[in-house]
Amino acid sequence: MSSPKTCHKCSQPACYIRPHGKLPLCLTHFNESFVRRVKKTILDNNLFKRNERIAVGVSGGKDSIALLTVLHELKKDLSSELVVITIDEGIANYREDSVKYAKLAAEKFDLEHHIYSFKDLFGYSLDEIIAIDAKTERSLGACSFCGILRRRALNVVAREAGVNVLCTGHNQDDEAQTVIMNVLRGEVLRIMRSNPTPNKKHRSLIPRAKPFRRTPEEEIVLYCVLNDLPYQEVSCSYAVEASRGPLRDFMLDYQNMYPSTGMNVISSADKILELATQLKEPLNNKYSKRKIDTCPECGEISSSGQCKVCEVISYLKEKEES
Ligand code: SF4
Repeated sequence: MSSPKTCHKCSQPACYIRPHGKLPLCLTHFNESFVRRVKKTILDNNLFKRNERIAVGVSGGKDSIALLTVLHELKKDLSSELVVITIDEGIANYREDSVKYAKLAAEKFDLEHHIYSFKDLFGYSLDEIIAIDAKTERSLGACSFCGILRRRALNVVAREAGVNVLCTGHNQDDEAQTVIMNVLRGEVLRIMRSNPTPNKKHRSLIPRAKPFRRTPEEEIVLYCVLNDLPYQEVSCSYAVEASRGPLRDFMLDYQNMYPSTGMNVISSADKILELATQLKEPLNNKYSKRKIDTCPECGEISSSGQCKVCEVISYLKEKEES
């Protein structure tokens, strides 16, 4: 019988004991199982097809650096071509450094790298937006502005780069928090919109994929550390404002007691989604299919009339002039 500090697959010393199942793993077997789980997520959810051009959104943080590294390793198996996209929101003393890590990773794998800033795309950096917004009572909060503009930026850049799918580094903890946030906000039916399999909802929307949706954050940090992958460790100065902060803390505590929590939340969401797909029309459609309109100002998609990005830009212009 192997000692608790010996890998359960070989005689090498263990570097990690997976909380769920308590299995000790050496570096080689940890790496193997880490990459295997991502590959399984990709295949189980049909995230890519063969010979597709795949974009990876790389901020320079741990999740995106680890994701790029794993997808590069799987590139031959999946016969896919990788392209890197980095969006610089314009956050002083934070984003400059993370863009450097993103560049390092793209150069290391010799990949095409598209870097665009909020300033290039929308005329304002996030810091400028927050300064304008702060002139009067704050309206949305940094993370909401950031989320609206970054979603658009990633889609526009991915479309211009001619990719089939855009991968992001959202991990199991992020995904589980999103499910619980939707429940807490009384919007549980939004789960029906979170089909993990990318699908083309509109010709101008690049489908999204999350190959880390079954990978816990703790293992991503460990993968970066054990494999000497440089990434930005400093947090964004606006992160303290993020509404999911208290929920993240609560779920981490709970997960420390019950390690399968994140996995169970995602499995529950997948089961709800599966049930929803079996419902008869129009009940399923009512919640799963969003109305897609075209913004009369920029021509990008919107849920109805003016899109959120144009709303933000008009709001900022008004505030600047007031
Ligand atoms: Fe943007 Fe908020 Fe994340 Fe900072 S913490 S990068 S403001 S979403």
